[in-house]
Amino acid sequence: MDYHYWMTRRRIARVREDMRDLGLDALIVSSLSNIRFLSGFSGSNALSIITSKEIFFITDSRYALQSKDEVKRWRRFITTRSLAAEASQQALLAGCRRVGFESHYVTHAQYRAFKKLFPRKSFVPTEEIVENIALVKDQEELGSIREAVAISDRVFTEVIKCIRPGVTELDVAAEISYLHKRNGAEHDAFEPIVASGERAAFPHARATSRRIKRGDMVVLDFGCACGGYHSDITRTIAVGRVLHQGREIYHVVLDAQQEAIMAAKGGMLAKELDGIARKLIASRGYGRYFTHSLGHGLGLRAHERPRVSALSNERLQAGSVITIEPGVYLPGVGGVRIEDDVLLTSTGCEVLNTAPKELMIV
Ligand code: ZN
Ligand code: ZN
Repeated sequence: MDYHYWMTRRRIARVREDMRDLGLDALIVSSLSNIRFLSGFSGSNALSIITSKEIFFITDSRYALQSKDEVKRWRRFITTRSLAAEASQQALLAGCRRVGFESHYVTHAQYRAFKKLFPRKSFVPTEEIVENIALVKDQEELGSIREAVAISDRVFTEVIKCIRPGVTELDVAAEISYLHKRNGAEHDAFEPIVASGERAAFPHARATSRRIKRGDMVVLDFGCACGGYHSDITRTIAVGRVLHQGREIYHVVLDAQQEAIMAAKGGMLAKELDGIARKLIASRGYGRYFTHSLGHGLGLRAHERPRVSALSNERLQAGSVITIEPGVYLPGVGGVRIEDDVLLTSTGCEVLNTAPKELMIV
């Protein structure tokens, strides 16, 4: 049997274990990423219902052919009604009393629709059942992530050739998106962040029509998707020349990132890892300028579990892919962030990115 068969079988078995533990007769899966994780379906409209014996999949007629191809061995329904109405019409919850739903993804309106269509069921909110199973990546998933990371690394080395005084942040962002596709990515993981000069002090700045100037630091944060799996990389470069303070914060951030990479491994608490980078940055006097969390998980979503923050009591697991991305942002001056994607192992971590990290002046 093929990978797809074993993959879905193993994942569904894990979902059913959780359902048993929670006393659920069925689980309604509404998150498209979660449906993709369980079935392989990559379209934009679907609902899945897992019971102890069956798996149902509902989509609309736009995806009749695609779902036939991607969703194997599940009972498929193609409908022109709403997905929930089709589930009701086909009596897919017959015999189920306690029905779980994904509380992070079901809107209040959808919840009310379920209640109305299935007045006699008891609906139970669940949290992150599928997300927990997706924390540890298998070889196939890692293959897709490695491919996405390799493409974004290549895009970095290519895009810096077009960065010079006079080009706008939007020019650079457009080039990143173009280069991703030219190098074989499906799409950007998110809108590329290109933040230059004093705008580099905004950690999540959108690219604007600002023209890059000599002496600017430019934060480039971008990623792409391959086979549905994401990459996410940040590099900060200097244009023309670099001022003393720029060089200083660059090395603070780089040292913090290296320390965290040296320490990262499966089994440690996420907040411990965050603390290592945070402590180093604080010891150099920039503690109050590292204003976000150290990193996040990466997979079918560009941001997913585990959360790698000062507050995260999660225990990191070998086999998870996370980002390590400390930053220092000086209001009115500029900022530096450096981000790599790493695969956690039981003894350490493997850095997936190969794009250079020494301070580059273009
Ligand atoms: Zn990023
Ligand atoms: Zn990130």
